[in-house]
Amino acid sequence: MAAKCYIIRCLGCGRPFEVTGRKVTCSSRCRDKVKRNPEGNRLLGELAKQRLGMSLFRALQGAAILFLRPDFAELIDGGELTFDEIQALMIQSNGKATAKGFASS
Ligand SMILES: [Zn+2]
Repeated sequence: MAAKCYIIRCLGCGRPFEVTGRKVTCSSRCRDKVKRNPEGNRLLGELAKQRLGMSLFRALQGAAILFLRPDFAELIDGGELTFDEIQALMIQSNGKATAKGFASS
């Protein structure tokens, strides 16, 4: 089975990118950047959990949806589509091309 794919915003640089697994950064450069600031990272994780009731990884997915497809975000708010349905839709449709384009620019 292929690994599940997500579109998230990089914790290091904020760019949306496509990821398999649970990475939170788009490159080794961003990974190092985040590593140098473990306290900020921990704080963000706490905020996501306490304020949004979701993991940091989940919050980064939400940030990517808001950034790339704010119209989709409204569908989640309205309860018309679930978070996972939106993510799948973004990856299926233009999500892939869009995320890749951002990641390489
Ligand atoms: Zn990055």
